This record gives sequence, C-alpha cells and structure tokens, in this order.
Amino acid sequence: MQDRLPLTDSEADCAEIRAHVDDVVAMEADAVTMARVEAHATRCAACRHALAAARAYRRALRRVGASERAPATLRHRVLDLMHETRDPRGPRP
Ligand SMILES: [Zn+2]
Repeated sequence: MQDRLPLTDSEADCAEIRAHVDDVVAMEADAVTMARVEAHATRCAACRHALAAARAYRRALRRVGASERAPATLRHRVLDLMHETRDPRGPRP
C-alpha cells in the first residue's frame, strides 16, 4: 500500500551532505565523508553548487586573511616586483 517512499535516497543524502560541506571545504572531514560528499556532488547539482559556493567563500576569506597578515614591507616588495615585470609603457596589445 506504499506507493511512495517517504524520502528518496538523494533527498536523505542532501541534508547530510549539506551538514558536511563546511568540513569538507576546510579539509576537516574524514576521508569517507569527503568521498561521499564529492560523489554526491557529481550527481546532485544543488549540492555541487553549495560545495562550490562554500569553496569560493573560503578562498575569498583566505585571500583577505593573507593580505591582512602580510607585513607592509613584504607587500611593498611584491608590488615592486610586479611593477618590474610589467611593461612600463603599459599593457601590450
Ligand atoms: Zn544533494
């Protein structure tokens, strides 16, 4: 008399996968969880998107943190190097 399962596998997975997304992008999840999340993301667009967004957010945070932590002297040195390698007459066509 049961014409529908209460939850499909993928619906049940989604809730669990989302709970682990942060750990996975932080590389703090165990190998089994990582593999499950990655495997689920390959066949679930919504979770793939959530994973990509979490990764992008983490990258952005790390970039901001890195530039804040870099001492001013290092930043100047990097900027100098960038100017040295750049063509002083401007970008090439
Ligand atoms: Zn999913």
